[in-house]
Amino acid sequence: MIISSAKPFEEILKLLKDEDDIFIIGCNACAAKLHVGGEPEVTMMQQRLEVNGKNVVGWVIPSAACSVASFDSLVEKNPAIREAKAILVMACGSGVSIIAGVTDIPVYPSNNTESLGGRSQGEVIPRLCAMCGDCTVYYFGGICPKGQCPKQLLNGPCGGSMEGKCEVDTDKDCVWDRICSRLEKMGRQDLMEKVWLAEEIEGQILCRN
Ligand code: SF4
Ligand code: SF4
Repeated sequence: MIISSAKPFEEILKLLKDEDDIFIIGCNACAAKLHVGGEPEVTMMQQRLEVNGKNVVGWVIPSAACSVASFDSLVEKNPAIREAKAILVMACGSGVSIIAGVTDIPVYPSNNTESLGGRSQGEVIPRLCAMCGDCTVYYFGGICPKGQCPKQLLNGPCGGSMEGKCEVDTDKDCVWDRICSRLEKMGRQDLMEKVWLAEEIEGQILCRN
């Protein structure tokens, strides 16, 4: 799941200050699950834009904004998009980019894309994976330090953890504490014996959201 959050409405209004006849595109995948691009949020956005003097010509919520085949497929769902002079996409950056690729109408984002995360037992969990392109999460018991340790340490903890909490993200448990417990539960402490060399690490850690 791509984790995104809604931009402040004032920022969206500023983005759209020279635009009118706006069409809104939501996303029934991640953004809907995160309550930043499903029907309730899209209709609320329509109302708020209209209250602020903008004409909203229509809206649509594709099953996934990042998987829209063509402009015609959007027209099929709601022909009012032909009247649009601007499109507001309530999805992650991937959805915004895909929509921008199928139309010449200016496309604006309503969300900030933050990380690759997930949702479990009703809880949204950000930064599960840093999308390094070389998945080695098995060595860490399925808990990725590239995505979840603020220092992206692969050879064990930094030593700054206090009472099991991360010294950087102090409200979170130290990722290495969790990795050790998990490997212990799996009976695979041997995996911790692997030493990651600089050349193995280099190029794997591409980003941290
Ligand atoms: S090893 Fe790479 S691909 Fe696998 S979870 Fe971590 S960051 Fe993501
Ligand atoms: S306390 Fe743990 S999670 Fe935090 S930076 Fe250090 S090793 Fe990483």
